[in-house]
Amino acid sequence: MALSAKAVPQTIPRIAPREDLNIFRISQIQFDIAAEHLKLDAGLRQVLRTPKRVMEVSVPTKMDNGQVKVFSGYRVQHNIARGPAKGGVRYHPGVTLDEVKALAMWMTWKTAAVNIPFGGAKGGIICDPKRMSKSELERMTRRYTSEILPIIGPARDIPAPDVYTDSQTMAWMMDTYSMVVGYSSLGSVTGKPVSLGGSEGRNEATARGCLFVTEEACKVKKLNFRGATVAIQGFGNAGSIAARLFTEKKAKVIAISDSRGGVYNTRGIDPYKAARYKERSGTVVGMAGTSRISNDDLLTMKCDILIPAALENVITLNNADQIKAKIIAEAANGPTTPHADEALAKRGVMVLPDILANSGGVTTSYFEWVQDLQNFFWTETEVNAKLETVMKRAFHEVHENSRKHHVHMRTAAYILAVGRVADATIVRGLFP
Ligand code: NAD
Repeated sequence: MALSAKAVPQTIPRIAPREDLNIFRISQIQFDIAAEHLKLDAGLRQVLRTPKRVMEVSVPTKMDNGQVKVFSGYRVQHNIARGPAKGGVRYHPGVTLDEVKALAMWMTWKTAAVNIPFGGAKGGIICDPKRMSKSELERMTRRYTSEILPIIGPARDIPAPDVYTDSQTMAWMMDTYSMVVGYSSLGSVTGKPVSLGGSEGRNEATARGCLFVTEEACKVKKLNFRGATVAIQGFGNAGSIAARLFTEKKAKVIAISDSRGGVYNTRGIDPYKAARYKERSGTVVGMAGTSRISNDDLLTMKCDILIPAALENVITLNNADQIKAKIIAEAANGPTTPHADEALAKRGVMVLPDILANSGGVTTSYFEWVQDLQNFFWTETEVNAKLETVMKRAFHEVHENSRKHHVHMRTAAYILAVGRVADATIVRGLFP
């Protein structure tokens, strides 16, 4: 396998004429665009665009009514050339193997984009966690962990939370792993409670990383962060904490939403009040002092910064031309399609791609793993300072690549990340 690190001049990527919303194929299109720029040879492309290992497991679980239900679960390890596999576990009725494969591949590029020594993985169970009791979730989590146990561990593959899994889920996974191996293995998962070897700052890390790269982007775009208007789709871990951190830095959050709809107020929304209101009523809709807005209209409303923090494929050819934000910071994974990327780039909208904008989560997971392996824990100030260094360096490396290769920020991030994984693969050589 040979790799020329020299990039070819900008060519319009040969993306499919019609928009394809299968996210595994989207992840491969994004890879192919970077591979073309890097002139990777065909064999290496095949290695890098295919998951290394795919595990499908049955997860028999005793439900509270005494009946046994069998859930389908997955763990996909996309690539481990640069270190152990790393990635979250998602509980959702819509989980598919293709989705898990795409998310695993994005993890490989994300860890490489911020240059931390991990590969990429993802897991998921097809289930409806909102309709399961805590004890059912615990039994399902423990059985899933024991099924994937042969391929996980601190040196192999380290799970973390994702959509509808949290620090409690990680505590059950860590305990199950530890019971089987016979000792307490803090480094087996990240996103754990602080009382169990979790890291200070991990809970806010995705949103904080997103804040750091958005502040840098504002400087480049000569947009004043103070007073900049922000619309956020999704008010969960990533979105609600972003609302708080952006407000603390004096940006003005004017719209927020969740699965039931959105609300806006052009004079600003108090993120603390919104969080308390959502806690009580289960949604942000109906919050005092706000007007209703649909999730679709939120994306195209007048604002300086748009933060998609919920779902995949929300910015497509259907709405890309109507988006008014100057900067899109992708807290969610996969919110923008490749066709929409092209349309936005033509209009000068700067998209901070998911593999950069939400990489604060995995970066602090890396800090957690390092602390666990050393049994030496850092203060929140130390964690946040290290995160800031990593995120700002990554932003400027990506931006520099974007200028050098005349490409938008996603392709620039991919050129950086894919190039790093390709280099590692080549120097390791092909076994046997
Ligand atoms: P979460 O479950 O905490 O929150 C998801 C939010 O999205 C909820 O407020 C939910 O109501 C909302 N939502 C669901 N369907 C919606 C819809 N149709 N329209 C608008 N909002 C909708 O999840 P999270 O951890 O905040 O993750 C959100 C995104 O960020 C995902 O793409 C995830 O992969 C990504 N991400 C999260 C982390 C992390 O550390 N939490 C790290 C990297 C990436």
